[in-house]
Parts: sequence; C-alpha cells; structure tokens
Amino acid sequence: MKIIMLGAPGAGKGTQAKKIAAKYEIPHISTGDIFRANIKNGTELGKKAKTYMDQGLLVPDELVVDLVVDRVNQEDCSNGYVLDGFPRTIPQAESLKKALASMGQEMDYAINVEVPDENIIHRMSGRRACVDCGSTYHLEYAPTKEEDICDNCGGSLILRDDDKPETVKKRLDVYHEQTQPLIDYYANEGILRDVDGTIDINDVFAEIVKVLGE
Ligand code: ADP
Ligand code: ADP
Ligand code: ZN
Repeated sequence: MKIIMLGAPGAGKGTQAKKIAAKYEIPHISTGDIFRANIKNGTELGKKAKTYMDQGLLVPDELVVDLVVDRVNQEDCSNGYVLDGFPRTIPQAESLKKALASMGQEMDYAINVEVPDENIIHRMSGRRACVDCGSTYHLEYAPTKEEDICDNCGGSLILRDDDKPETVKKRLDVYHEQTQPLIDYYANEGILRDVDGTIDINDVFAEIVKVLGE
C-alpha cells in the first residue's frame, strides 16, 4: 500500500503516518525528519535546507525529489510506504508519478487531513519534539508521561524554531499557495480521501482505517 499524507503544517500528518506505518507494517518516510537529521549531522544537504526551513519556505524541489525517489526504491519499501510531507508542490507530485510509472507503479491513496487554519497556530505552539529521536508530542493533546522528557528515548523536548507563531503563519501561506493545489491534483487522479483532522487522534486514525481497510 502506497500512501501520501496531505494537510496543512500541524494537521496531524506525522502523528497519523506513524500509526499507519505501525499497523500496516510499512516504512514512514518524512522529508521534514530527513532534513532535520541532516541538519543535526551537519551535512551539505542539511546546511542548504536549513536556510529555507528557518524562514518557513519550502526547500527547492531539486533537493527533495531524488532523495525521496531513492528512498522508495529501497528494499524495505517493496510492500509500500507512507509519505509524510512529500509531495508538497505540483512539480514534486509530477516527478513522483513519473518515477513510479517507470517502474510500473502508482500511488494508492492520498489522505487529506483537514484542519482549519484557526486551529493550526494553537496546535503548533503546543507541539514539542524530541531533540534525540524526533518523536512528537503535544502539551495538551499528546502529553509525555514525565514533563519535558521523551517517552520513547528519555531525550529532552523542544519547541521547533519553525513552530513559533511568526514562522507558522508564513508556513500556512506557503501551504495554501504551493501545497493545497495537490488536493485537486489527487482528486483528479481518483485517489483523494478526506478525513476530519479536528477530532481526537485515535478517532482520526479510525477514519483512516475505514479508508485503508483493516
Ligand atoms: P504535521 O505532521 O501535520 O505537521 P503533527 O502530527 O506533528 O502534524 O501534529 C501537530 C501537533 O498537533 C503535534 O503536537 C501533535 O501531537 C498534535 N496533534 C496531532 N493530531 C492531533 C489531533 N487529532 N488532535 C489534537 N492534537 C493533535
Ligand atoms: P510539518 O510536519 O509541520 O508540516 P515538516 O516536518 O513536514 O513540517 O517540514 C518542515 C520543513 O521542511 C518545511 O517547512 C520545509 O521547509 C521543509 N520540507 C519538508 N518536506 C518538504 C518538501 N517535500 N518540499 C520542500 N520542503 C520540504
Ligand atoms: Zn526521543
């Protein structure tokens, strides 16, 4: 099963993608996580990506597409995967389609997690990420067992720089301009499925399971 997660920053794509990956036993591929790992390790790609990410802008398509195409060609992706944060532009979607077509493949579902802009700023200001393993929490909606300590690895939690309200506003503008057109794109491809992202995390997942099957 090959799945794309669509939705605004903070809609819950990552949260749901992790649950999908666990239930259907397929890799979770997050381009944001890949960039953050590169930044942490001080790679050339990380240095380039950071200048865009800090401003709430998208990293240029040419730095993203090959990376994802290489990743989905790896052995562990043979039964499918869930893409989180890619594609984010129409050219990225076209490149993905072309690369898959050359292998006789196509995506199965694009799941659009719908959350209105009004809810996003609040969601993002409460998001906390582990500096060591990247696990994501929320102060109110997905709290850790112990305050400011990652349940998964014991690492410490931070508010991502790009989750500060000024940058979130910019990211929302960028989303509406460059990423939202993908909703129509995948509707035309016949694989779009909308789910309500404003309900409880487990209820959103139940909606997704209805789409994907038990
Ligand atoms: P995205 O990957 O789309 O940017 P995340 O999955 O990181 O979004 O979720 C953004 C924040 O909102 C996180 O702090 C997460 O714990 C929280 N969150 C995710 N889904 C829900 C939900 N259905 N209700 C409330 N909070 C949620
Ligand atoms: P969120 O889950 O909150 O939407 P991500 O972790 O997916 O955020 O992305 C963080 C940042 O990484 C984006 O604001 C953008 O700068 C960059 N990024 C991630 N994926 C892509 C992509 N497919 N194309 C361009 N930039 C990307
Ligand atoms: Zn951790």
